[in-house]
Amino acid sequence: MDKNQKLELLFSAIRKAYSGRTLVFNDGSPDAPIMIIGEAPGVDEERQGKPFVGRAGKLLNATLEMLGWQRSDFYITNIVRYRPHDAVGGTLTPTPQEIEKFRPAMEKEIEVVDPKLIIVLGRIAMTGLGIEGTMAENRGRVIEWSGPPPPNGSGRASRKILITYHPAAILRNINWEPMFREDLAKITELAK
Ligand code: URA
Repeated sequence: MDKNQKLELLFSAIRKAYSGRTLVFNDGSPDAPIMIIGEAPGVDEERQGKPFVGRAGKLLNATLEMLGWQRSDFYITNIVRYRPHDAVGGTLTPTPQEIEKFRPAMEKEIEVVDPKLIIVLGRIAMTGLGIEGTMAENRGRVIEWSGPPPPNGSGRASRKILITYHPAAILRNINWEPMFREDLAKITELAK
């Protein structure tokens, strides 16, 4: 089975478990060596069925392009696969329970894609990978993370993770933009 087939199996299981919900999965190629993990889809992502296509996604794309990358250089996904919302449709932050429920699927997705580098955008994605501490402590850090095993190896694979702000946080606080860009500028060196 190739990576796309394995991912399709995983996504089918998620579709079954959350059959009443509008789900959003991945974008980009599973052969990309760099994976970007966000929080959960928003209204635009729900409409278009792809992660990071709204305002936060546009900022992410623009920053990556400024640094010489194309969106298609990355595999892009979210921890939570539906948009958590309140009774009147307002978007909510995923709860710790929702993050925990999606953690096994995230680990499986990482195992299948087998990226060299993972870029974690914001606190929810960081928590979803079991990384402790606050964003203030972790932003800009590169850590070795013992995630799921590589497809043909044994034991737990060690992968590099770069932690930075979520682009929606930059939209709310433009003063953080230079730090966001500085963090993402590390990709070139880390992806070698
Ligand atoms: N925010 C996220 O975390 N993911 C998306 O796909 C869109 C906005």
